[in-house]
This record gives sequence, C-alpha cells and structure tokens, in this order.
Amino acid sequence: MAKQTKSTKYVYFFGGNQADGNESMKNLLGGKGANLAEMAGHPALRLPVPPGFTITTEICNYFYQHKKTYPKELQIQVTAALSKMEKLSGKVFGDPDNPMLLSVRSGARRSMPGMMETVLNIGINDKTIKGLIKHSGNERFALDAYRRLIMMYADVVMEKGSGIEPKGGKGIRKMLDEQLEAIKHSGGHKSDTELTVAELQQLIKEFKRTILKTLGKAFPDDPMQQLWGSIGAVFSSWNGKRAVEYRKIEKIPDEWGTAVNIQAMVFGNMGLDSCTGVAFTRNPGSGENKFYGEYLVNAQGEDVVAGIRTPAPINAYSKNAQSQNLETLETLMPGLYQKLHGYQKRLEKHYKDMQDIEFTIEKGKLYMLQCRVGKRNGVAAVRMAIEMQQERLIDGKTAVKRVAPNQLVELLLPMLDPKAELINPVLAKGLPAGPGGAKGRVVFTSQDAVDWAHKGEPVILVREETSPEDVDGMHKSQAILTIKGGMTSHAALVARGWGKCCIVGCGDIEIHHESKLLKTKNGTVINEGDWISLNGTKGFVYGGSLPLVDIDLDKNISYNQFMKLVNKTKTMGVRANAETPQDAAQGLKFGAEGIGLFRTEHMFYGSGSEQPLFLLRKMIVSKTTEERKSALKALFKYVKKDIKNTLQVMEGLPVTIRLLDPPLHEFVPHNAEKLKELSRELGISLGVLRRRVLSLHENNPMLGHRGVRLGISYPEITEMQVRAIFEATAEMIHAGKKAFPEIMIPVTVAVQELIHQKVIVDRVYKEVCEAKKIKKIPYLYGTMIETPRAAIKAKRMALAADFFSFGTNDLTQMSFGFSRDDIGGFLPAYLDQKILNEDPFQTIDQDGVGKLIRLGTEEGRETKPRLKVGICGEHGGDPESVKFCHRIGMNYVSCSPFRVPIARLAAAHAALEDEH
Ligand code: PEP
Ligand code: MG
Repeated sequence: MAKQTKSTKYVYFFGGNQADGNESMKNLLGGKGANLAEMAGHPALRLPVPPGFTITTEICNYFYQHKKTYPKELQIQVTAALSKMEKLSGKVFGDPDNPMLLSVRSGARRSMPGMMETVLNIGINDKTIKGLIKHSGNERFALDAYRRLIMMYADVVMEKGSGIEPKGGKGIRKMLDEQLEAIKHSGGHKSDTELTVAELQQLIKEFKRTILKTLGKAFPDDPMQQLWGSIGAVFSSWNGKRAVEYRKIEKIPDEWGTAVNIQAMVFGNMGLDSCTGVAFTRNPGSGENKFYGEYLVNAQGEDVVAGIRTPAPINAYSKNAQSQNLETLETLMPGLYQKLHGYQKRLEKHYKDMQDIEFTIEKGKLYMLQCRVGKRNGVAAVRMAIEMQQERLIDGKTAVKRVAPNQLVELLLPMLDPKAELINPVLAKGLPAGPGGAKGRVVFTSQDAVDWAHKGEPVILVREETSPEDVDGMHKSQAILTIKGGMTSHAALVARGWGKCCIVGCGDIEIHHESKLLKTKNGTVINEGDWISLNGTKGFVYGGSLPLVDIDLDKNISYNQFMKLVNKTKTMGVRANAETPQDAAQGLKFGAEGIGLFRTEHMFYGSGSEQPLFLLRKMIVSKTTEERKSALKALFKYVKKDIKNTLQVMEGLPVTIRLLDPPLHEFVPHNAEKLKELSRELGISLGVLRRRVLSLHENNPMLGHRGVRLGISYPEITEMQVRAIFEATAEMIHAGKKAFPEIMIPVTVAVQELIHQKVIVDRVYKEVCEAKKIKKIPYLYGTMIETPRAAIKAKRMALAADFFSFGTNDLTQMSFGFSRDDIGGFLPAYLDQKILNEDPFQTIDQDGVGKLIRLGTEEGRETKPRLKVGICGEHGGDPESVKFCHRIGMNYVSCSPFRVPIARLAAAHAALEDEH
C-alpha cells in the first residue's frame, strides 16, 4: 500500500510579519519556502515579503504515490490560506474588480536553478483583466501579463504537465512565440514592450485559438482551475527530464520531492518606477565583502535570470564592461537602494552566510521575493569563510565547514599561461562568471557538447544564452561561453555551482548557426571544432589552444589562512603518493606530512630511465641467479640515488617505500626492434630471448607473479632494494640530516611472506650498519593490505608488521573481481541501473570493501595496539573515503599531491563530524 503522509498540515502560510514555518524546515518546505517563512516571520527580519503559502514536499511524494492526486484536506487548507492572503493584500483571487494574482513556483530542499517549472500571473481571465486594468491604471501592462500567463500555462501545464510530446518536436511555446514575433514584425516593433493594446488583444485571441487547435483543450478561464493546474504541473516537473538529469549530476535523491510555493504577485514591470533584481550580499565570483547585484527597470524577475536583456548594476561596485554606462539602482532610486542595502545586511547577519536575494520594486515599493545561501565558486568560498571568521560572524569550525573539499580543486585549477595571454590578441571580452582557464573545441549545441565529449574531445559550449535544457552539455564541457546574460544568468549560476570556467554576456561575438561558426566584432571567424581558450577570471576569449599553467597558491592569502585553520582542526595525517623528488616537493607544498607511497618501479618509466630500464630488463631475462645478481648489482646505484633524492626532499618526514610491485613481464619489450636491441646488448640470440620472454607470460598478470611473490622467488631483488634504502638513509644521517624510511611489502596474503622477507631485511640492516659504521638506522617494516585474505588475516599479519597501508585499488579489484583497468565496459550500466551507486574505484565501497578495511584495522590493532594504519589507494584523495578512513581510526591517508589539500579539508570535516 502506498505510504501515507506523516502529518496533516500540508500548507504553511507566510506574510504580514508572521509565518507558520521557518528556516529550519527545508526538508518539508523546500529551501525557498523555508526562507520565505523566515524572512517574513522571524522577529529579527520581518521583511516585506508578498504573502503566500507553501505546499509541503510530503505532498509531492503523495502526488506520485497516488496517481497524481492529493489528500482531501489539501483543498481546504489551500482555500484557507488564500483567504488569509486576500485579507493581507486587500485583493480577492478571481475578483473581477480587484483581482489578486498568484505565482506558483517549485522549491526543493536544495536549489535546482531553472530545472523545474514556474507559472506567473495566475488568476487573469477575460473578466478579471478589467479589474487589473483599473487598479494598475495600465492596460498595456495588464494585457502583457495576460499573454505571458497564457504562454506559460499552455507550455508548462497544458503541454509539459500533461506529458504531451509536441508533434514534429515543435512545442506550443515555440508556436506562440512565432505568433508573437509575427505581430511584432508586422507592427514594425523591435521589442515586446512596443506592442500596442490592440496588438496584444489580437495576440491573446490568436493564442487561445492556437492552443485549442493544437492541444485540443481551451485555455481555462477559471482562476481556481488555473491554480490547481499550475500546482500539478510544478509537482510534475520534479520528474521532468531536466530535473531528473540535474539530480543525477548533483546526486539529489529522487525521494526528496519538491515543495510548491504560491505567492501573491508583485510586478517589476509596472513602469519606470518598477524594477526587479538579483543580488548577493558578497561578490560570489571573488568572495569580496561588497554588495553585488543586477537589476532591470520595468521587467519581471524571469527577465534577469533568462539573460535576455543585459542587466544594469545595482551600485558602482557591480559595474562591468557591458554595464558600465547603465544607471545604477543606487542613483536611480537612492532611498529604496538604501532600504535594500539595509535588508541585505540584516539577512547576512541573520543567516551568518552570503545570501543570494531576489527583489522587486512595484511602483516605488520594495518587496523581497527570495533569499537563499548563495552559490559561490571555490575561490570565493575560501575567502568568504576566512573573512567571516575574522569578522567574528562565524567561528573557526564553521569556517572550515563552509568550504566543500572538492571546491578546493578550483583554487588548484590551472589558468591560462599569462605569458601566452600577453602575446595573443583578446578576440572578445565578456563577464568573468567562472574563474580559471580552459581550452577546448567550439561546439554550438548542448547535444554536440555531449557527443564530442563522449568521444574524448575537450569542448567549449558557445551559446547565445543557456537554458536548463543545456545542463548536460554544460556539464560535459570544459567551459561555457554565452553571448547574452549577466552574472546572475542561468549559465553563470550553474557554472558557479560546478566551479566551471565560464564567460557570459560576451556581446563581442555573434553565432551563425546555419554555417556553424562564430564571428567576433573584429571579423575573426571561428568554426565549429576550432580551438579557443578562455580566461574565466577576467572574461577574455582567445583563439587557438593556449597553454595552461598552475596557479601560485603562495600568493593566495585567504587560502593559506584557511588551510592553517584546517590543520588545527584535523586529527588524521595526510601524506602524498610521490615517486619523484618533484612530486614530493609538490606534495610538501600542498601540506603533505610525509609520503605514503613511493612506487619504486616508476624510476623505470619516462625520461632518464633508459639505463636503469635496460639493467632491469637484463635482470628480468636472466637465466641464473648469478646473471640476475650481476644485473642487480649494476642497477643498485640507480635505485639508491632515486630513493635518496626523495628522502632528501622529505627530510625527516616518513617516506613509505614500496618494494617492486608489478609483474616483471610488464617491463619486457614486445616490439621486434626493441627485442633485437636487447638480445644484442645481452649477447644472446633473439630466439633465446624470445623463449625467456615467453616463459614470463601470464594469463592473469594482476593475479600473477608480482609484489612480494617476486621477492620470495628472487630474494636478491628484495635484498638489492633494501640495501639501497638503508645505505641512502645511513648516508643522510652521516651528512647530519634526518631520514625516515618505511619499507613496505606489496600484495601480501600471509604473515609467512612478511617473515620471509624480514629475514633478508634484518641481515642487510646489520651489514649496512657495520659497513657504514652506524649504530641505528631508523625505519619501519610493514605491508600493504591489498588482498582480501590479508585483511582477513590482519591479526596474524600484524605480528610481523609495524604498519599497514591499505592498497584499495587492488583491494577493490580483488574484492569485487572487477578489473581496475577495464571497468569502463560495464560500469555505466551498473550506475544507470543503480546496481551500484558509485564507482568503487573512486570512492570506497564502505559496506563491502570498507568492511574488510575496518576488520583489517581493528584486528591488526588487536595484535599491535599502536599499529600505524594508512591508505594509499586512489581513494585517499576522495573526500567521502577520507572521512571513512578517519572514522575507522586510520593514522593517515595518502593521495596524489594535487589531492592533498582536498584530503586535508575532508579530514578536518571528518574531525568536526566526530563532535556531533
Ligand atoms: C593499490 O593497489 O591500492 C596501490 C596503491 O597500489 P598500485 O595502485 O600501485 O597497485
Ligand atoms: Mg596495488
């Protein structure tokens, strides 16, 4: 049986300095509804909010569980709320003399900008319009509001809300738009605002005819029918294609549902003493503590967000290249601006966070329509958090929580190389909506962005303006460039949420869709597929593919102060996985407290590896122990140097050095030319070499002769590496430096393997101490836990180990039996069909592989309470996995250098979560 709703109160009223709900009720009222209630009713705020009510998210779930119907009591509660609104507004819904008009908007727990539907001006029909004309004194305005209602209603309620798929792909909205264009054209008008009363009247008649003909139903005259139709359509839009896609990207659960907000309309389009705007209590692009916003005179709210007209700045600070000559709200309506300024201050003080606010001025009266915590990019998030802490608006812990670990990626993001920017001409300038640099190939449709990106092409999506239909393509693009729109347009809002490089309002370019090209003001032509580069921090567009460079974090004062706070908060260590001195230095710069994984085999890849690789190959194809020993002897000096270089960079910090791990055949050349060369160098025939190589072949190399198994079959390999480690350390100590190696044995399954290898380690240790005349070389001896058996046998494994490091790449591979290199073939199907919620190679599968990690940690510590435990698989840089590692009591996580700041912040968040 379908689930019943939990309470019987479905409608929450707000307005007239009181409200049934409040800000803490986001789950029930959605973000928008909860904040409207707070703004209207909280004693510290009591702002001028047009009266209204919220239908709860529980009704959304009821709606879907009961074939799109409502509980009986809902209608009674809605009617009661409407009459309260009527009392406050002095108008009556459906009254031909003085009609109250309504807006119906969605509002989920978390904001989903533009992904669901809205219907405005509800309550107009052929009778009530007379009252609207009388009270507004503006016939043109009233008729314009009517035609907007008809267009929206036909599109949102009658077509989309009823699940009608338009014939030939041309929806009713488009048909009505074409009629509007035709009338504009025949009247010789450029903009909608020039349409005459007679033309609007004609348009309304034509609209109604087209709707009846196309959709087989008449536009409803009954205001109540309009209202309920709109409510149903907004609930239905929770499961619209766009909303579902967005939820998937943002990981918003389907069962949250949306609330519906019904509110008395106020109009920013009643003339030159009316306007509407969007503002932020601080700059969402940079984080600077300055009131920042845009507005449009004589316009409806949708016009600002849709990016159709370039909005004007609310104050001098908000001016940009496009809007610098437009009049600010501060000078146009100084008194009202001051009032708005006061409200925004109160809101930020009350919410203790940056607010994104929407306001409307109707005939000289200011209304607050919305407030919510403003989206910001990573750069701004860090600056706001630390500055708010310094201003004592929030405490240090709150400041740390304010930045999501992954937002730090944006601070580490590359930017266009400033040197290249100096010598390349700027093709066009727009507004810097999303910082960082990006380059890619130009596409003009969201679908192309998706298709090209699927083929591995980096793309930049160029649009006149974006709409919620474009989200998938926007998500897949390296960056977004739009011609219209301001800093609060859809593209800017969405890109900011994702931390994506984005330029909007770039009026210097024109798109020619038919010829799939864009033209800049100075005549440069860029075709589809051509490369462009964007500087999203400045709003500059360049032709071609400019190099990207890393950002200099030392110069970012807010970041450095913020990370100090992070370090004070976190309790778990964070190390870097690094195999070169450069990587180690990078890790240190990002705050790594040691190296958690130094993969020795990396010295055989890349530049400078020719000689050691040759010696390694010689060792691999050796027939006898003697041959192998001689090759190892030659290799020794390279290995020692490699290890010593990194120990030097990390002076005194622990460096976990893993002994050779991959199956040996990985290093043997397979092409004929290289084989010939090797046979020549080795002085054996090609035939003999081929046979030796063939004998190394394995069917399942990942499960084959690798890791500790090599050290068991060829103890001399272990011996050489351990000697290199001890000698390098001893030499550092002699030079008055500190070094702290941790010898790590990979791919183990049994304590006997550790005991076997330890015999070699102990012998070599003694020999090196004697040879180097040193009493003690500090080191630890431990193992990776990469096989399920090693985790299960942790109690025994710990008998012969000072530390465990979970190699969760292999542990995930072996627990699932999924090849870590070939998961691409089936993972998308697993995720789509929700067989798995996440890619287990990216985030720890907490109830599966995680159980092995927990067991291994707990049982290892039963044997050795002070056993050091860490993780060095890719998961060490994934915030959710880092938190998991903290919860089970690991000493540290280790990840690639660029993830170190993210892991540090995630560790701090985990420590704060402990307090709850
Ligand atoms: C692991 O398996 O998690 C690991 C870190 O080792 P590698 O990725 O080198 O196999
Ligand atoms: Mg491994």
